[in-house]
Amino acid sequence: MDDKAFFTKILGIRLPWFVKQVVVNEEQQRVNIYVDHEPGIKVRCPECEIFYSLYDHAPERIYRHLNTCQMATYIHVRPPRVNCPTHGVKKIDSEFGENGSDMTFAFENFVIQVAKECSIEGIGRICGLSWDRGWNVLERAVKRGLARKENKIPARIGVDEKSIARGHKYESLVYDLDAGTVEYVCDDRGQDSLESYYRQFSEKMRADVEAVAMDMWDPYIAATKAYIPDAAKKIVFDRFHVMRHVLEAVDKVRKNEHKQLSELGEHLLKGTKYLWLWSQENIPEWRREEFDTLRAKDLRVCRAWAIKENLRHMWDYRYEANMRKYFKRWYFWATHSRLEPIKKAAKTLKAHLDNIVTYARHRITNALGESINAKIEKVKRLACGFRNRAHYRTAIYFHCSGLDLFPRPSEKKTLCFKYG
Ligand SMILES: [Zn+2]
Repeated sequence: MDDKAFFTKILGIRLPWFVKQVVVNEEQQRVNIYVDHEPGIKVRCPECEIFYSLYDHAPERIYRHLNTCQMATYIHVRPPRVNCPTHGVKKIDSEFGENGSDMTFAFENFVIQVAKECSIEGIGRICGLSWDRGWNVLERAVKRGLARKENKIPARIGVDEKSIARGHKYESLVYDLDAGTVEYVCDDRGQDSLESYYRQFSEKMRADVEAVAMDMWDPYIAATKAYIPDAAKKIVFDRFHVMRHVLEAVDKVRKNEHKQLSELGEHLLKGTKYLWLWSQENIPEWRREEFDTLRAKDLRVCRAWAIKENLRHMWDYRYEANMRKYFKRWYFWATHSRLEPIKKAAKTLKAHLDNIVTYARHRITNALGESINAKIEKVKRLACGFRNRAHYRTAIYFHCSGLDLFPRPSEKKTLCFKYG
């Protein structure tokens, strides 16, 4: 078998195509494969599907293909053109790679697989691509995936905000809570950000949304009420976000108390921040004794801590009425605690109670969002070279959205031919 027959076979090249020439350039460590078609063929107009004699060729296209052993391999091909009396001169789309790509399907698929595992710089090193070309593969993959994505709003969604870079820039993220994927990413965290997601769907589709988990964040609440029928029964304030308000209050109590004690020369609250914030069962073994000693003292933070721990049990209830009853008792306790930050947090919760207790029915949280958050942190690390927000969004879609990213040859044969 000579080299032409060898490459015709391993590249799976079929008539009328054949390998005309193989040039191995040892100095450049490059294999150039020239593919041509048989002479004298008639070619079908892609519009009307009538066969005409070959007109001429479009300029040569060069596709990067998978390496031949250690050598970068390129396929050279001249796409034929047909001159149809009705439709004019038409180029026949290539079967080697996607329209507009300078990579074969196989090579582009390989780059995407590598991109799933490493940074753009890593793609560059492994695949021998510049940053821009590596990035371009990601962008095309996401565009392809979004175009293939079914226009459907998930039944149970989570809405979350995510700060990007340092500073105060935010992105809004919409999750499919059942699939565990990011459905949508957009700039900012205003009402219009979330509405731009909802607007993609018909009212009938939006009516099928069963539940929406979110933070107690007015713009998201307003957007959901404006677009999701019956939103009042469907919005569930994420329990972890709810707890965060109380945790912040506990921390404020600790800070104030620590400051006052320090002024009196007492430093017993130094280094104890997380002891009060961790859930009781998560306090590390080696700090339990220290914690028990502190709890035996008459401290304000200790009371705040007990109020915080107590609230956690509200989410154990299966019925809304029981959650409300539990909250009522807790609220009385919290508002009579003489701890200002705790009182303030309790009032915030009370104002939002109707959509905290919806948890009893829907039992959703954005905890999934937390696992996605971990993934996003990884994405940030992989993409230390993000140059702007659009890049950041692309990377989230690429890594967290479960999109169908890979290019495939079209199912319809593009070059239809006949002899003579
Ligand atoms: Zn035609």
